[in-house]
Amino acid sequence: MEEKQYVTEWANENLGLTLKITKMVHEEQSPFQHIQIADTLQYGRILILDGVFQTSVKDEWTYHEMISHVPLMMHPHPERVLIIGGGDGGVAREVCRHDCVKQVDLCDIDGRVIALSQEYFPTISKVLNNPPAKLHVHVGDGIAFAKQVKDFYDVIIIDCSDPIGPGEGLFTRDFYRSAFSALREDGLIVQQTESPIVQQQTVHDVFEAMNDVFTIVRMYYSHVPIYPACMHSFMLASKKYDPLTADIRKDMPQPMKYYNPGIQKSCFVLPNFVKELLYKGIKSF
Ligand code: SAM
Repeated sequence: MEEKQYVTEWANENLGLTLKITKMVHEEQSPFQHIQIADTLQYGRILILDGVFQTSVKDEWTYHEMISHVPLMMHPHPERVLIIGGGDGGVAREVCRHDCVKQVDLCDIDGRVIALSQEYFPTISKVLNNPPAKLHVHVGDGIAFAKQVKDFYDVIIIDCSDPIGPGEGLFTRDFYRSAFSALREDGLIVQQTESPIVQQQTVHDVFEAMNDVFTIVRMYYSHVPIYPACMHSFMLASKKYDPLTADIRKDMPQPMKYYNPGIQKSCFVLPNFVKELLYKGIKSF
């Protein structure tokens, strides 16, 4: 039978992104989600969970650099980092590049994503294949993991899938309260929080939920080609440091393909339609 020639992620019933593929490399139903790995002509190999494009070999750095280095470069001494989700290893790879980071805990609910990333995405998962002593990989629910820690982490990075299936609980006030307690007194969290163009309700709701728990909540964004409408939001919530005024540490890992000290500040400068969405709940799309 002829191989399926395309994969499509439907952001909603009216909008999809289609990629031409040369091969569906692997496909399985794990206890948590449907996992697909395909070779695409445009972006190389891609990881798809429950039909949602997660990361690709060609564009992964646009996301992994921005979700990792923006929080780490504004914290004066990020020694202990928790990554929730991140089973593909891309965020762990970036976090481990910071010499000041002494402990990295990664907690992904699905061991199959970790194992398949190690096998099929060696450039993204490389620190999982050859973990430095400071990296500890846990397989479990990040919600439960965060609940059992108090006053411990400097930075928590929620590199989760979308607010469907196992990831849904990571977008709630309850979880943000657990994350708040798991942080040290000057800690901060960052979460991937979908598209401010195609998933406007989610972005608005997360901003409101985080503001109910943290005093400083700022959205920033990056351009991620495989995500709907390319513009992708991250929400940073902090106990002490405000990203708009915080100093940037000098010891930036090199080289970078996306992140730079100028982007550390400019990524928080938001278009008016995004400010209207966050502060007034006005949707433009
Ligand atoms: N959007 C990200 C990217 O571009 O790299 C995807 C990162 S990773 C593939 C998303 C991970 O979140 C998945 O491996 C999934 O198993 C994990 N996940 C979802 N819900 C979780 C939970 N409650 N606790 C821990 N991990 C979870």
